[in-house]
Amino acid sequence: RQQEFYRDTWAEIDLDALYYNMKEIRNFLPSETRIFATVKANGYGHGDIQTAKTVLKAGAHGLTVAFLDEALALREEGVNAPILILGATRPQDVPIAADHQISLTVYDGEWLKEAEKHLSPGKKVALHIKCDTGMGRIGVRDEEELKQIEDYINNSNCFSFEGIFTHFATADELDTEYYERQLSRFKKLLQVLKTTPTYVHAANSAAALYHSDATFNATRIGIAMYGLTPSAEIEPYLPFKRREVFSLHSKIIHVKKMHPGEKVGYGADYTTENEEWIATIPIGYADGWIRKLRGFHVLAGGERVPIVGKICMDQSMIKLPYYMPIGTQVTLIGEQNGQFISVDEVANKLDTINYEVTCTITNRVPRVFK
Ligand code: PLP
Repeated sequence: RQQEFYRDTWAEIDLDALYYNMKEIRNFLPSETRIFATVKANGYGHGDIQTAKTVLKAGAHGLTVAFLDEALALREEGVNAPILILGATRPQDVPIAADHQISLTVYDGEWLKEAEKHLSPGKKVALHIKCDTGMGRIGVRDEEELKQIEDYINNSNCFSFEGIFTHFATADELDTEYYERQLSRFKKLLQVLKTTPTYVHAANSAAALYHSDATFNATRIGIAMYGLTPSAEIEPYLPFKRREVFSLHSKIIHVKKMHPGEKVGYGADYTTENEEWIATIPIGYADGWIRKLRGFHVLAGGERVPIVGKICMDQSMIKLPYYMPIGTQVTLIGEQNGQFISVDEVANKLDTINYEVTCTITNRVPRVFK
């Protein structure tokens, strides 16, 4: 959440770009397809409240989060849209969800019995049944189990059958074989239902934008609305370009000229070769700017400049091409004078995916909404 802060490091969240991305997604999908925007993990690190409010204005119908705490935080900030919790909720916490009109995911008949014990008469909670069609994560796997869960929900005064869904493991790959297997398994499971719930959903960003047969009547969009790609391999085939929402900035807080043969950082394992301008920026691994980023670069004065020495907990050192004064802005992710470091470039350096990069920037880094 945006708050006053007293340090020279911040993440900028471009809400116009977020709005634009969601509008494009809204325009691309069939108008009757409801969009649930995925704002779990503090909106993939972008700030859940502001993100949620922006995408709802841009045409999202509802929100998904992973845990009850995340849903409650949205309700506390006055978000009234439908919210679905995708992950597990403890049976004893179900009344809290009922009180706040938060929909829950069910994937286990025993859970229903336990949850029912905690609900007093008159309290009702809406449920989405999660099917495991090949992700191997939470989910109902066979027809019999699904029938039993559906019957239990429909015969109980405590529950309403609001949705059914599955999640794809490979929707972001060009090879569609496994995706198709999951899709046909989901369709088979849908056939055993006696009643059709309001929402039937399977597609994440990749499936919604790359596979037109996965939308049913609702989708769960995450990464694409943040302007990031579900994967490099399907990116060339996606229907429109998105704008990156997240950028990360700091400022030079100290600069010094060092002589050849001097050392920088823990382990004293960077040695200056020449007269070098070494600057310190106040961001480190406790901010999620992790030690594996050693040897990467940042933007200062519109140029790529190397990070030198080991990244510390709260500070990092960079080698400048020439003197730059204290207060000079340093961009770690984003654009500076036409140069750009994308979230994907950082992800590639870290051998990971863009999702992990924005989620990893910790709450110690204030989010500034533009
Ligand atoms: N649905 C579920 C169950 C998820 O776990 C996620 C993301 O992790 C999403 C939807 C959104 O996926 P994406 O960010 O790839 O659009």
